[in-house]
Amino acid sequence: METPNDVTRMRLVGGDLALDLVNSRSGPAGGAPDDDALTGYADVLAWGRYVGALSDAEVAALRRLSREDPAGAEAAFRRCLEIRDCLDDVFRAVASGARPSRHALAQLRDHELDALGSAELDVGEAYGWSWRRDRTLLRPVHPAVHAAVELLMSDRHNRVKGCGACRFLFVDESRNSSRRWCSMEDCGTTEKIRRYVARRAGRA
Ligand SMILES: [Zn+2]
Repeated sequence: METPNDVTRMRLVGGDLALDLVNSRSGPAGGAPDDDALTGYADVLAWGRYVGALSDAEVAALRRLSREDPAGAEAAFRRCLEIRDCLDDVFRAVASGARPSRHALAQLRDHELDALGSAELDVGEAYGWSWRRDRTLLRPVHPAVHAAVELLMSDRHNRVKGCGACRFLFVDESRNSSRRWCSMEDCGTTEKIRRYVARRAGRA
């Protein structure tokens, strides 16, 4: 693997491309992030491939582009982090039932204008925006920006939640909106064990 930091260790549990970008940083619930899967532009490419936003051919073309223009790639990487901060601000507010700040919403609008500026209207299964011919270094995150706007403008935004045990955000698609953990295998089980140990300690 060429990337210094393997993004495929990330769990894709957001249920939405926008939240999977937010979740490329991990850490405790309600706390500051303590780990980041994105440490440079190569990680952004690996992330794009991992989440299915980029094809192998697109990764190869963008890798060439980034090598020809290292300063541009570094600037694009910084921009990706700004975009992720913006999505984090917007959806962490939404998950807590608050209104995102005007500043965050204005930033999201600007990112969306950039993303759509590189998109074309195309028809696959249905008509929609396509970034297949986007040759800019921000190509990997453009679909995530648009996914964020679509999520925010749909009823699904009412189902955005934060995990009870870590800082991951997810769309709760369960029928009775009862999902509490980013994943049962990780945080759900950890939390169950923690409670079991606490109960036993209480009895002892
Ligand atoms: Zn979690």
